[in-house]
Amino acid sequence: MTSALPDGSAQILARLEALREADAATHGGRVLSYVYDSGLAELDQLAAEAIRIMQPVNGLDPTAFPSVAALERDLVRFARRMLHGGDDVVGTVTSGGTESCLLAVKTARDVWRAAGGTGTPRIVAPATVHAAFPKAAHYFGVDLDLVPVDTDGTVDPARLTDRFGPDVALAVVSAPAYPHGTLDPVAPVAAAAARAGIACHVDACIGGFVLPWWAGEDDPLPAWDFAVEGVTSISADLHKFGYAPKGASVLLQRGRDRQRAQYFATRGWPGYPVVNATMLGSKSAGALAAAWAIIERLGESGLGELAASCRRSTDAVTAAVRATDGLRVVGSPVGPLFAVATDGAAPEHRRVDPHHWADSVQERGWRLQLQPGLVQADGTRLPHTTHLTITPVTESVLPELLFALASAADEVRGMPAATAADVAASLPGVGDVLAGLADRTEPLDSAEASALLAGLGVGTGASALPQRMAPLLALLESLPAPITERLLIELLAGLVEP
Ligand SMILES: *Cc1c(COP(=O)(O)O)cnc(C)c1O
Repeated sequence: MTSALPDGSAQILARLEALREADAATHGGRVLSYVYDSGLAELDQLAAEAIRIMQPVNGLDPTAFPSVAALERDLVRFARRMLHGGDDVVGTVTSGGTESCLLAVKTARDVWRAAGGTGTPRIVAPATVHAAFPKAAHYFGVDLDLVPVDTDGTVDPARLTDRFGPDVALAVVSAPAYPHGTLDPVAPVAAAAARAGIACHVDACIGGFVLPWWAGEDDPLPAWDFAVEGVTSISADLHKFGYAPKGASVLLQRGRDRQRAQYFATRGWPGYPVVNATMLGSKSAGALAAAWAIIERLGESGLGELAASCRRSTDAVTAAVRATDGLRVVGSPVGPLFAVATDGAAPEHRRVDPHHWADSVQERGWRLQLQPGLVQADGTRLPHTTHLTITPVTESVLPELLFALASAADEVRGMPAATAADVAASLPGVGDVLAGLADRTEPLDSAEASALLAGLGVGTGASALPQRMAPLLALLESLPAPITERLLIELLAGLVEP
Protein backbone atom coordinates (compact mmCIF):
# COMPACT_ATOMS: atom_id res chain seq x y z
CA MET A 1 0.00 0.00 0.00
CA THR A 2 2.84 2.38 0.88
CA SER A 3 4.26 2.07 -2.66
CA ALA A 4 1.15 3.78 -4.11
CA LEU A 5 1.87 6.88 -2.02
CA PRO A 6 3.93 9.84 -3.22
CA ASP A 7 7.58 9.75 -2.22
CA GLY A 8 7.38 12.05 0.77
CA SER A 9 4.57 10.05 2.36
CA ALA A 10 6.30 6.73 1.83
CA GLN A 11 9.37 8.06 3.58
CA ILE A 12 7.33 9.31 6.52
CA LEU A 13 5.69 5.93 6.91
CA ALA A 14 9.05 4.21 6.63
CA ARG A 15 10.25 6.32 9.56
CA LEU A 16 7.21 5.26 11.52
CA GLU A 17 7.93 1.61 10.80
CA ALA A 18 11.52 2.15 11.91
CA LEU A 19 10.40 3.72 15.19
CA ARG A 20 8.14 0.76 15.83
CA GLU A 21 11.12 -1.58 15.73
CA ALA A 22 12.19 -0.52 19.22
CA ASP A 23 8.75 -1.34 20.67
CA ALA A 24 7.76 -4.36 22.68
CA ALA A 25 6.27 -7.02 20.41
CA THR A 26 2.51 -6.52 20.17
CA HIS A 27 1.94 -9.92 18.57
CA GLY A 28 3.23 -13.41 19.02
CA GLY A 29 2.67 -13.88 22.75
CA ARG A 30 6.11 -12.82 23.97
CA VAL A 31 4.79 -9.89 25.99
CA LEU A 32 2.58 -11.13 28.83
CA SER A 33 0.90 -7.82 29.73
CA TYR A 34 -0.29 -4.69 27.87
CA VAL A 35 -1.33 -6.54 24.72
CA TYR A 36 -4.12 -9.01 24.15
CA ASP A 37 -3.40 -10.99 21.04
CA SER A 38 -6.23 -13.13 19.72
CA GLY A 39 -3.74 -14.84 17.44
CA LEU A 40 -6.16 -14.18 14.54
CA ALA A 41 -4.53 -11.90 11.93
CA GLU A 42 -7.91 -11.58 10.26
CA LEU A 43 -9.20 -9.57 13.24
CA ASP A 44 -6.38 -7.05 12.91
CA GLN A 45 -7.23 -6.50 9.25
CA LEU A 46 -10.90 -6.13 10.06
CA ALA A 47 -10.12 -3.57 12.79
CA ALA A 48 -7.80 -1.59 10.52
CA GLU A 49 -10.47 -1.38 7.82
CA ALA A 50 -13.12 -0.34 10.35
CA ILE A 51 -10.82 2.41 11.66
CA ARG A 52 -10.17 3.63 8.11
CA ILE A 53 -13.89 3.91 7.38
CA MET A 54 -14.60 5.84 10.59
CA GLN A 55 -11.39 7.88 10.62
CA PRO A 56 -12.86 11.29 9.74
CA VAL A 57 -15.86 11.01 12.09
CA ASN A 58 -16.11 13.03 15.31
CA GLY A 59 -17.49 10.87 18.11
CA LEU A 60 -18.41 14.05 19.99
CA ASP A 61 -21.84 14.33 18.45
CA PRO A 62 -23.99 11.28 17.65
CA THR A 63 -26.74 13.57 16.35
CA ALA A 64 -24.46 14.73 13.54
CA PHE A 65 -22.88 11.25 13.19
CA PRO A 66 -25.63 8.69 13.91
CA SER A 67 -23.23 5.88 13.00
CA VAL A 68 -21.52 6.48 16.33
CA ALA A 69 -24.75 5.93 18.26
CA ALA A 70 -25.56 2.82 16.23
CA LEU A 71 -22.21 1.17 16.97
CA GLU A 72 -22.41 2.10 20.64
CA ARG A 73 -25.94 0.74 20.93
CA ASP A 74 -24.85 -2.62 19.53
CA LEU A 75 -21.84 -2.90 21.84
CA VAL A 76 -23.83 -1.93 24.94
CA ARG A 77 -26.58 -4.41 24.02
CA PHE A 78 -24.02 -7.19 23.62
CA ALA A 79 -22.13 -6.41 26.84
CA ARG A 80 -25.36 -6.12 28.81
CA ARG A 81 -26.49 -9.52 27.60
CA MET A 82 -23.16 -11.17 28.42
CA LEU A 83 -23.19 -9.62 31.90
CA HIS A 84 -26.81 -10.60 32.69
CA GLY A 85 -28.16 -7.08 32.69
CA GLY A 86 -31.86 -6.44 32.14
CA ASP A 87 -33.52 -3.57 30.27
CA ASP A 88 -32.75 -1.28 33.18
CA VAL A 89 -29.02 -1.62 32.48
CA VAL A 90 -27.75 1.07 30.09
CA GLY A 91 -24.25 2.06 29.13
CA THR A 92 -21.59 3.93 27.28
CA VAL A 93 -18.50 3.07 25.28
CA THR A 94 -15.51 4.92 26.73
CA SER A 95 -11.89 5.28 25.67
CA GLY A 96 -10.63 2.59 28.06
CA GLY A 97 -10.77 1.01 31.47
CA THR A 98 -9.46 4.02 33.29
CA GLU A 99 -12.13 6.27 31.80
CA SER A 100 -14.84 3.72 32.65
CA CYS A 101 -13.62 3.59 36.27
CA LEU A 102 -13.29 7.38 36.52
CA LEU A 103 -16.84 7.77 35.27
CA ALA A 104 -18.16 5.13 37.68
CA VAL A 105 -16.67 7.15 40.55
CA LYS A 106 -17.93 10.48 39.21
CA THR A 107 -21.43 9.01 38.83
CA ALA A 108 -21.45 7.58 42.34
CA ARG A 109 -20.17 10.84 43.82
CA ASP A 110 -22.87 12.85 42.10
CA VAL A 111 -25.66 10.39 42.98
CA TRP A 112 -24.48 10.48 46.61
CA ARG A 113 -24.50 14.29 46.60
CA ALA A 114 -27.93 14.41 44.98
CA ALA A 115 -29.20 12.17 47.79
CA GLY A 116 -28.06 14.76 50.33
CA GLY A 117 -24.46 13.71 50.95
CA THR A 118 -22.27 16.60 52.08
CA GLY A 119 -18.54 16.91 52.68
CA THR A 120 -16.02 14.52 51.15
CA PRO A 121 -17.44 11.19 50.03
CA ARG A 122 -15.51 7.96 50.52
CA ILE A 123 -14.95 4.94 48.30
CA VAL A 124 -14.29 1.59 49.98
CA ALA A 125 -12.29 -1.03 48.07
CA PRO A 126 -9.79 -3.84 48.62
CA ALA A 127 -6.14 -2.72 48.47
CA THR A 128 -5.80 -4.63 45.18
CA VAL A 129 -8.26 -2.34 43.38
CA HIS A 130 -6.84 -0.95 40.13
CA ALA A 131 -4.84 2.29 40.23
CA ALA A 132 -7.63 3.90 38.19
CA PHE A 133 -9.47 4.30 41.52
CA PRO A 134 -6.70 6.19 43.37
CA LYS A 135 -6.58 8.26 40.19
CA ALA A 136 -10.33 8.90 40.33
CA ALA A 137 -10.08 9.83 44.02
CA HIS A 138 -7.27 12.24 43.16
CA TYR A 139 -9.09 13.81 40.23
CA PHE A 140 -12.54 14.06 41.79
CA GLY A 141 -11.79 14.99 45.41
CA VAL A 142 -13.02 11.72 46.90
CA ASP A 143 -11.39 9.76 49.75
CA LEU A 144 -10.27 6.23 48.97
CA ASP A 145 -10.45 3.84 51.91
CA LEU A 146 -8.34 0.80 50.99
CA VAL A 147 -9.11 -2.37 52.91
CA PRO A 148 -6.07 -4.61 53.48
CA VAL A 149 -6.12 -7.99 51.74
CA ASP A 150 -4.57 -11.28 52.86
CA THR A 151 -1.20 -12.18 51.41
CA ASP A 152 -3.06 -14.41 48.93
CA GLY A 153 -4.83 -11.32 47.58
CA THR A 154 -8.28 -12.06 49.03
CA VAL A 155 -10.35 -9.62 51.02
CA ASP A 156 -12.62 -10.58 53.89
CA PRO A 157 -16.00 -9.13 52.82
CA ALA A 158 -16.94 -8.32 56.42
CA ARG A 159 -13.78 -6.29 56.80
CA LEU A 160 -14.84 -4.27 53.78
CA THR A 161 -18.51 -3.84 54.63
CA ASP A 162 -17.64 -2.90 58.23
CA ARG A 163 -16.30 0.33 56.75
CA PHE A 164 -19.66 1.32 55.32
CA GLY A 165 -21.20 4.53 56.62
CA PRO A 166 -23.20 7.53 55.48
CA ASP A 167 -20.16 9.11 53.81
CA VAL A 168 -19.55 6.09 51.58
CA ALA A 169 -20.60 6.82 47.99
CA LEU A 170 -19.26 3.66 46.38
CA ALA A 171 -17.94 0.17 47.12
CA VAL A 172 -15.65 -1.28 44.46
CA VAL A 173 -14.85 -4.95 43.92
CA SER A 174 -13.00 -6.51 41.00
CA ALA A 175 -13.70 -9.44 38.70
CA PRO A 176 -10.85 -10.17 38.85
CA ALA A 177 -8.37 -7.71 40.39
CA TYR A 178 -5.35 -7.08 38.19
CA PRO A 179 -2.41 -7.72 40.56
CA HIS A 180 -3.14 -11.38 41.48
CA GLY A 181 -6.23 -12.28 39.43
CA THR A 182 -8.36 -12.46 42.58
CA LEU A 183 -12.13 -12.61 42.08
CA ASP A 184 -13.41 -10.40 44.90
CA PRO A 185 -16.47 -11.43 46.97
CA VAL A 186 -19.00 -9.57 44.82
CA ALA A 187 -22.23 -11.04 46.23
CA PRO A 188 -21.71 -10.31 49.96
CA VAL A 189 -20.31 -6.84 49.30
CA ALA A 190 -23.10 -5.92 46.86
CA ALA A 191 -25.78 -7.22 49.22
CA ALA A 192 -24.44 -5.20 52.15
CA ALA A 193 -24.05 -2.15 49.92
CA ALA A 194 -27.67 -2.45 48.75
CA ARG A 195 -28.87 -2.64 52.36
CA ALA A 196 -26.85 0.46 53.22
CA GLY A 197 -28.00 2.34 50.11
CA ILE A 198 -24.45 2.42 48.74
CA ALA A 199 -23.58 1.98 45.05
CA CYS A 200 -21.44 -1.04 44.14
CA HIS A 201 -19.15 -1.08 41.13
CA VAL A 202 -17.67 -4.30 39.76
CA ASP A 203 -14.42 -3.53 37.98
CA ALA A 204 -14.43 -6.21 35.30
CA CYS A 205 -12.17 -4.20 33.02
CA ILE A 206 -9.95 -7.22 32.48
CA GLY A 207 -12.45 -9.99 33.18
CA GLY A 208 -15.58 -8.65 31.52
CA PHE A 209 -15.09 -10.31 28.13
CA VAL A 210 -13.48 -13.53 29.34
CA LEU A 211 -15.06 -14.55 32.69
CA PRO A 212 -18.51 -15.15 31.12
CA TRP A 213 -16.86 -18.17 29.43
CA TRP A 214 -14.46 -19.16 32.21
CA ALA A 215 -16.47 -21.55 34.36
CA GLY A 216 -15.86 -25.23 33.71
CA GLU A 217 -18.46 -28.00 33.89
CA ASP A 218 -17.52 -28.80 37.45
CA ASP A 219 -16.12 -25.51 38.67
CA PRO A 220 -18.76 -22.82 38.38
CA LEU A 221 -17.78 -19.25 39.29
CA PRO A 222 -19.60 -17.39 42.03
CA ALA A 223 -21.96 -14.83 40.46
CA TRP A 224 -20.15 -11.54 39.93
CA ASP A 225 -22.13 -9.54 37.34
CA PHE A 226 -25.60 -7.96 37.10
CA ALA A 227 -27.05 -11.31 38.17
CA VAL A 228 -26.03 -10.11 41.64
CA GLU A 229 -28.59 -7.74 43.04
CA GLY A 230 -26.92 -4.66 44.42
CA VAL A 231 -24.34 -4.39 41.64
CA THR A 232 -24.99 -0.92 40.26
CA SER A 233 -22.26 -0.62 37.60
CA ILE A 234 -19.69 -2.72 35.74
CA SER A 235 -16.70 -1.72 33.63
CA ALA A 236 -15.48 -4.15 30.93
CA ASP A 237 -12.68 -3.36 28.50
CA LEU A 238 -13.13 -4.13 24.83
CA HIS A 239 -9.43 -3.45 24.28
CA LYS A 240 -8.42 -6.30 26.60
CA PHE A 241 -10.24 -9.62 26.18
CA GLY A 242 -12.53 -8.07 23.54
CA TYR A 243 -9.33 -8.05 21.40
CA ALA A 244 -10.02 -4.54 20.07
CA PRO A 245 -7.23 -2.02 19.42
CA LYS A 246 -6.68 0.35 22.35
CA GLY A 247 -9.32 2.94 23.01
CA ALA A 248 -12.49 1.01 23.86
CA SER A 249 -14.23 -0.05 27.06
CA VAL A 250 -17.85 -0.32 28.19
CA LEU A 251 -19.33 1.17 31.34
CA LEU A 252 -22.74 -0.28 32.19
CA GLN A 253 -24.96 1.20 34.89
CA ARG A 254 -28.12 -0.18 36.43
CA GLY A 255 -30.92 2.38 36.38
CA ARG A 256 -31.43 5.19 33.90
CA ASP A 257 -31.40 7.94 36.51
CA ARG A 258 -28.12 6.69 37.95
CA GLN A 259 -26.59 6.56 34.50
CA ARG A 260 -27.75 10.05 33.62
CA ALA A 261 -25.59 11.31 36.53
CA GLN A 262 -22.59 10.18 34.47
CA TYR A 263 -23.30 12.88 31.87
CA PHE A 264 -22.14 16.45 31.75
CA ALA A 265 -24.23 19.09 30.01
CA THR A 266 -23.90 22.84 29.89
CA ARG A 267 -25.46 25.70 28.05
CA GLY A 268 -23.40 28.10 30.14
CA TRP A 269 -21.17 29.32 27.37
CA PRO A 270 -21.83 31.09 24.09
CA GLY A 271 -20.86 28.11 21.92
CA TYR A 272 -22.85 25.03 20.91
CA PRO A 273 -24.90 23.31 23.64
CA VAL A 274 -22.56 20.74 25.21
CA VAL A 275 -23.59 17.28 26.36
CA ASN A 276 -21.05 14.51 26.90
CA ALA A 277 -21.43 11.01 28.28
CA THR A 278 -17.67 10.63 28.65
CA MET A 279 -14.70 12.77 29.60
CA LEU A 280 -13.40 13.75 26.19
CA GLY A 281 -14.95 16.26 23.82
CA SER A 282 -14.06 15.67 20.20
CA LYS A 283 -12.92 12.10 19.87
CA SER A 284 -12.07 9.44 17.38
CA ALA A 285 -14.74 6.92 16.48
CA GLY A 286 -12.04 4.60 15.15
CA ALA A 287 -11.57 2.46 18.24
CA LEU A 288 -15.33 2.21 18.69
CA ALA A 289 -15.74 1.01 15.11
CA ALA A 290 -12.89 -1.48 15.42
CA ALA A 291 -14.29 -2.89 18.66
CA TRP A 292 -17.73 -3.13 17.10
CA ALA A 293 -16.42 -4.96 14.05
CA ILE A 294 -14.48 -7.44 16.16
CA ILE A 295 -17.42 -8.19 18.43
CA GLU A 296 -19.70 -8.59 15.39
CA ARG A 297 -17.18 -11.00 13.90
CA LEU A 298 -16.51 -13.05 17.03
CA GLY A 299 -19.87 -12.92 18.77
CA GLU A 300 -20.56 -14.97 21.83
CA SER A 301 -19.22 -18.22 20.40
CA GLY A 302 -15.99 -16.70 19.04
CA LEU A 303 -15.24 -15.05 22.37
CA GLY A 304 -16.04 -18.35 24.07
CA GLU A 305 -13.52 -20.23 21.91
CA LEU A 306 -10.82 -17.66 22.62
CA ALA A 307 -11.59 -17.82 26.34
CA ALA A 308 -11.28 -21.61 26.23
CA SER A 309 -7.84 -21.26 24.66
CA CYS A 310 -6.83 -18.80 27.40
CA ARG A 311 -8.12 -21.26 29.98
CA ARG A 312 -6.08 -24.18 28.61
CA SER A 313 -2.90 -22.09 28.51
CA THR A 314 -3.49 -20.57 31.94
CA ASP A 315 -3.96 -24.03 33.43
CA ALA A 316 -0.77 -25.21 31.77
CA VAL A 317 1.34 -22.24 32.85
CA THR A 318 0.05 -22.13 36.44
CA ALA A 319 0.59 -25.89 36.76
CA ALA A 320 4.16 -25.45 35.49
CA VAL A 321 4.84 -22.60 37.93
CA ARG A 322 3.41 -24.62 40.81
CA ALA A 323 5.66 -27.50 39.85
CA THR A 324 8.71 -25.22 39.79
CA ASP A 325 10.85 -25.56 42.86
CA GLY A 326 11.00 -22.22 44.71
CA LEU A 327 8.07 -20.44 43.03
CA ARG A 328 4.38 -20.31 43.82
CA VAL A 329 1.22 -18.89 42.26
CA VAL A 330 -0.33 -16.32 44.58
CA GLY A 331 -3.75 -17.34 45.94
CA SER A 332 -6.42 -18.85 43.68
CA PRO A 333 -6.59 -16.69 40.57
CA VAL A 334 -9.73 -16.66 38.42
CA GLY A 335 -9.29 -15.80 34.73
CA PRO A 336 -6.25 -15.60 32.48
CA LEU A 337 -3.99 -13.63 34.81
CA PHE A 338 -2.03 -14.42 37.92
CA ALA A 339 0.95 -13.43 40.01
CA VAL A 340 4.00 -15.47 40.92
CA ALA A 341 5.87 -15.09 44.21
CA THR A 342 8.72 -16.81 45.99
CA ASP A 343 7.74 -20.04 47.66
CA GLY A 344 8.61 -19.14 51.25
CA ALA A 345 8.11 -22.77 52.29
CA ALA A 346 11.12 -23.86 50.23
CA PRO A 347 14.56 -23.88 51.85
CA GLU A 348 16.39 -20.64 51.16
CA HIS A 349 18.81 -22.08 48.62
CA ARG A 350 15.87 -23.46 46.59
CA ARG A 351 13.83 -20.24 46.52
CA VAL A 352 13.34 -18.29 43.32
CA ASP A 353 12.93 -14.53 43.56
CA PRO A 354 10.14 -13.52 41.15
CA HIS A 355 11.90 -10.35 39.99
CA HIS A 356 15.22 -12.05 39.25
CA TRP A 357 13.13 -14.68 37.51
CA ALA A 358 11.33 -12.06 35.37
CA ASP A 359 14.68 -10.48 34.41
CA SER A 360 16.04 -13.86 33.45
CA VAL A 361 12.88 -14.69 31.47
CA GLN A 362 13.33 -11.36 29.66
CA GLU A 363 16.85 -12.32 28.63
CA ARG A 364 15.23 -15.30 26.95
CA GLY A 365 13.01 -12.99 24.90
CA TRP A 366 9.78 -12.86 26.93
CA ARG A 367 8.47 -9.92 28.89
CA LEU A 368 6.74 -10.45 32.25
CA GLN A 369 5.56 -7.64 34.52
CA LEU A 370 7.34 -6.91 37.80
CA GLN A 371 5.05 -5.80 40.63
CA PRO A 372 6.61 -4.20 43.73
CA GLY A 373 5.68 -5.30 47.25
CA LEU A 374 3.30 -3.16 49.24
CA VAL A 375 2.92 -2.24 52.89
CA GLN A 376 -0.83 -1.98 53.50
CA ALA A 377 -2.65 0.45 55.79
CA ASP A 378 -2.59 -2.05 58.68
CA GLY A 379 1.16 -2.59 58.33
CA THR A 380 0.91 -6.01 56.72
CA ARG A 381 3.14 -6.60 53.76
CA LEU A 382 2.22 -7.99 50.36
CA PRO A 383 5.28 -9.60 48.77
CA HIS A 384 6.71 -8.46 45.46
CA THR A 385 5.49 -10.59 42.59
CA THR A 386 5.68 -11.06 38.84
CA HIS A 387 2.46 -10.79 36.85
CA LEU A 388 1.49 -12.78 33.76
CA THR A 389 -1.52 -12.23 31.55
CA ILE A 390 -2.26 -15.13 29.22
CA THR A 391 -3.95 -14.51 25.86
CA PRO A 392 -5.19 -16.82 23.09
CA VAL A 393 -1.92 -16.54 21.18
CA THR A 394 -0.10 -18.07 24.16
CA GLU A 395 -1.29 -21.52 23.11
CA SER A 396 0.76 -21.33 19.90
CA VAL A 397 4.00 -20.70 21.83
CA LEU A 398 3.28 -22.70 24.97
CA PRO A 399 6.20 -25.17 24.84
CA GLU A 400 8.75 -22.36 24.28
CA LEU A 401 7.20 -20.26 27.04
CA LEU A 402 7.23 -23.12 29.56
CA PHE A 403 10.82 -23.86 28.66
CA ALA A 404 11.85 -20.22 29.17
CA LEU A 405 10.04 -20.01 32.52
CA ALA A 406 11.67 -23.20 33.79
CA SER A 407 15.19 -22.47 32.60
CA ALA A 408 15.03 -18.92 33.98
CA ALA A 409 14.01 -20.33 37.37
CA ASP A 410 16.94 -22.75 37.24
CA GLU A 411 19.29 -19.88 36.50
CA VAL A 412 18.30 -17.66 39.44
CA ARG A 413 17.32 -20.29 42.02
CA GLY A 414 18.93 -19.48 45.38
CA MET A 415 19.78 -15.91 44.39
CA PRO A 416 18.61 -13.62 47.23
CA ALA A 417 16.12 -10.88 46.35
CA ALA A 418 17.71 -7.57 45.35
CA THR A 419 17.84 -4.97 48.10
CA ALA A 420 18.14 -1.21 47.99
CA ALA A 421 21.43 -1.56 49.88
CA ASP A 422 22.92 -3.67 47.05
CA VAL A 423 21.97 -1.02 44.54
CA ALA A 424 23.38 1.77 46.67
CA ALA A 425 26.61 -0.21 47.11
CA SER A 426 26.97 -0.68 43.35
CA LEU A 427 26.39 2.97 42.43
CA PRO A 428 28.92 5.35 43.99
CA GLY A 429 27.39 8.33 45.78
CA VAL A 430 23.82 7.09 45.51
CA GLY A 431 23.80 5.69 49.04
CA ASP A 432 24.31 9.14 50.58
CA VAL A 433 21.67 10.71 48.38
CA LEU A 434 19.19 7.97 49.28
CA ALA A 435 19.92 8.29 52.99
CA GLY A 436 19.25 12.01 52.68
CA LEU A 437 15.97 11.33 50.93
CA ALA A 438 14.60 8.94 53.52
CA ASP A 439 13.35 11.71 55.76
CA ARG A 440 12.98 14.46 53.24
CA THR A 441 9.65 16.22 53.47
CA GLU A 442 9.74 18.91 50.76
CA PRO A 443 9.05 17.69 47.25
CA LEU A 444 11.95 17.16 44.84
CA ASP A 445 12.23 19.62 42.02
CA SER A 446 12.81 18.59 38.44
CA ALA A 447 16.59 19.11 38.53
CA GLU A 448 17.01 17.06 41.70
CA ALA A 449 14.77 14.29 40.47
CA SER A 450 16.51 13.98 37.12
CA ALA A 451 19.95 14.07 38.76
CA LEU A 452 18.89 11.27 41.05
CA LEU A 453 17.54 9.21 38.16
CA ALA A 454 20.79 9.68 36.28
CA GLY A 455 22.69 8.53 39.39
CA LEU A 456 20.54 5.40 39.43
CA GLY A 457 21.44 4.65 35.83
CA VAL A 458 17.96 5.51 34.65
CA GLY A 459 18.16 7.86 31.73
CA THR A 460 16.08 9.30 28.99
CA GLY A 461 15.89 8.35 25.35
CA ALA A 462 15.86 4.97 23.74
CA SER A 463 17.22 2.82 26.58
CA ALA A 464 15.66 4.59 29.54
CA LEU A 465 15.54 1.52 31.75
CA PRO A 466 18.30 -0.85 32.78
CA GLN A 467 18.40 -4.40 31.43
CA ARG A 468 17.77 -5.96 34.82
CA MET A 469 14.81 -4.44 36.62
CA ALA A 470 14.93 -6.32 39.94
CA PRO A 471 17.45 -3.94 41.61
CA LEU A 472 15.57 -0.85 40.42
CA LEU A 473 12.28 -2.19 41.77
CA ALA A 474 13.94 -2.95 45.13
CA LEU A 475 15.21 0.58 45.27
CA LEU A 476 11.88 2.14 44.37
CA GLU A 477 10.19 -0.06 46.97
CA SER A 478 12.54 1.17 49.68
CA LEU A 479 11.96 4.88 49.07
CA PRO A 480 9.00 6.78 50.53
CA ALA A 481 6.06 6.57 48.09
CA PRO A 482 5.96 10.33 47.34
CA ILE A 483 9.65 10.24 46.32
CA THR A 484 9.14 7.20 44.11
CA GLU A 485 6.09 8.78 42.53
CA ARG A 486 8.02 11.98 41.84
CA LEU A 487 10.87 9.99 40.24
CA LEU A 488 8.42 8.13 38.03
CA ILE A 489 6.90 11.42 36.91
CA GLU A 490 10.35 12.81 36.09
CA LEU A 491 11.22 9.68 34.14
CA LEU A 492 8.09 9.78 32.00
CA ALA A 493 8.15 13.54 31.50
CA GLY A 494 11.80 13.35 30.45
CA LEU A 495 10.99 10.77 27.78
CA VAL A 496 8.86 13.18 25.76
CA GLU A 497 10.81 16.36 26.31
CA PRO A 498 11.95 17.73 22.95
C1 LIG B 1 -6.71 -2.63 32.79
C2 LIG B 1 -7.54 -2.42 34.00
C3 LIG B 1 -8.07 -1.15 34.32
C4 LIG B 1 -7.70 0.12 33.58
O1 LIG B 1 -7.83 0.00 32.25
P1 LIG B 1 -7.01 0.78 31.14
O2 LIG B 1 -7.69 0.28 29.94
O3 LIG B 1 -5.57 0.40 31.23
O4 LIG B 1 -7.22 2.24 31.36
C5 LIG B 1 -8.92 -1.07 35.40
N1 LIG B 1 -9.18 -2.15 36.15
C6 LIG B 1 -8.67 -3.37 35.90
C7 LIG B 1 -9.01 -4.51 36.78
C8 LIG B 1 -7.82 -3.54 34.82
O5 LIG B 1 -7.27 -4.73 34.57
